[in-house]
Amino acid sequence: MKILVINAGSSSLKYQLLDAESHDVLAKGLCERIGIDGHLKHTPGNGKAVFDEDVAMPTHAEGIQKVLELLVSADHGVIASTDEIGAVGHRVVHGGEKFAASTLIDDSVIQAIEDCIPLAPLHNPANITGIQACQKVMPGVPMVAVFDTAFHQTMPPKAYVYALPYEYYEKDAVRRYGFHGTSHRFVTAEAAKMLGKPLEELKLISCHLGNGSSIAAVKNGKCVDTTMGFTPLAGLPMGTRCGDVDPAILEYLMNKYSLSIGEMQNILNKKSGVLGVSGVSSDFRDLDEAAQGGNQRAALALEVFQYAVAKYIGSYAAAMGGADAVIFTAGVGENSGSTRMGACKDLGFMGIAIDPELNKKRGQALDISAPGATVRTLVIPTNEELMIAMDTAAIVSGQGA
Ligand code: AMP
Repeated sequence: MKILVINAGSSSLKYQLLDAESHDVLAKGLCERIGIDGHLKHTPGNGKAVFDEDVAMPTHAEGIQKVLELLVSADHGVIASTDEIGAVGHRVVHGGEKFAASTLIDDSVIQAIEDCIPLAPLHNPANITGIQACQKVMPGVPMVAVFDTAFHQTMPPKAYVYALPYEYYEKDAVRRYGFHGTSHRFVTAEAAKMLGKPLEELKLISCHLGNGSSIAAVKNGKCVDTTMGFTPLAGLPMGTRCGDVDPAILEYLMNKYSLSIGEMQNILNKKSGVLGVSGVSSDFRDLDEAAQGGNQRAALALEVFQYAVAKYIGSYAAAMGGADAVIFTAGVGENSGSTRMGACKDLGFMGIAIDPELNKKRGQALDISAPGATVRTLVIPTNEELMIAMDTAAIVSGQGA
C-alpha cells in the first residue's frame, strides 16, 4: 500500500510518499511559506526531475493539491493516479492522555486533537489544518493520526506526576507527556532486531539527539520514563532550548531585567541550550569546529550537553534496574562520534564502552561497542516517516498499529 505521510506546520508542510511493504520512499518534498506566497520543492525517488519553484499557496489545501498534481505529473510524477494512495498518515504532536496509540481519524478524533490545543498551542492547530486540508482535497481516503506523545503513555504515575499540588494534574492535565515518541518507538524496535532478542525482554535507553533532544527509558518495549515533560522544553539542553533549569531562576531574571513572560519564554526556547552557552551556534558541527579552534565556550557547551546525556543514561539504568543497550539516533546522535564518546566516556563502570574505530562510521545502523562491553552501544538512523507509514497501513488494513 502507498501511504502519503504529512507533517504540517503553521506555514509549512513536509510530505513523503512511501511504499509500506518495500519501505521505499517514492517521493518527498516540502511546501513552505503557505499563506504568505508559497514555495514547493518536490523530489521524486525515481530519478525524474526535481521541482523547485514558487507556487501560490493561500492555504494548506492548495499546497496539497499541487503535491498531488506533481505526484502524477509526466515530468515529476511517481504514480499513475492519486487513486494509488491507499491512506494518509499525519504526524500529530500532542495526543494528551487520550491517545496511547495511532488512530484512524474521524470527527471525534479531530475534536480530541482540538481539545489538546492548550497543551501544544503552536503545533496541534497546524496538524488539524493539515488533516482538514487533506480531507478536502482527498475525500474518502482513510487518514491516521500518529502522535509524538503516544509512546510515552505507558509511563507509570511516579514518572509522569510532578511534585506540584495534585489538583494541577487532575484539573489542568499538568504532567510529564514526553515527545519524539515515534522516533523512540522506531529505534527501539530496530535495536531489538539488531540484538536478536524480543523487544519485550530488553531494557533500552534511547537517545534522540538532534536540534531537539530527548532520552527515553524503554523496558520490555514500554516507555517507563523520558526527559521531555509537559512541553518539549524540559530535560536535556538542546540547540536553543534550555532543558532542565531551576524554576526559581525565571522569577529572579524576570524581576532583575523586567522581562515579560513572553520574553522569558523566548529566552528559554530560542536563546538557550548550546547556543546560549557557546554564543556561537545551535549547530553541533559549528560547535565542534569552534571548539577545535580553541573557543572555550563552544567546548563548554558541548561538555554541558554530553554531561547531561551521561547523567540521564545513568539515571535510566537506575530506573530500569539495568540496561541492555544505549541507542544513539537523530542528527547529532547518528553523526557526531565525539558527542557519543563524550557522553559515554565515564560510563565504563556500568559496562558501556565504545570502539573508537567503529564510532567513526556513519550512515548505517551499527553496534559500536568495544569488545568486552556488557551494555551494547548502537547507532540507529531514525525514520519517523516510515513508522508513520507502517502504523497507517496497519490500521487501515485492520491489523492495528
Ligand atoms: P535533527 O534535529 O535530528 O535534524 O538534527 C539536526 C542537528 O544535527 C543539526 O543542528 C546539527 O547540530 C546535528 N548534526 C548533523 N550532522 C552532524 C555532524 N556531522 N556532526 C555533528 N552534528 C551534526
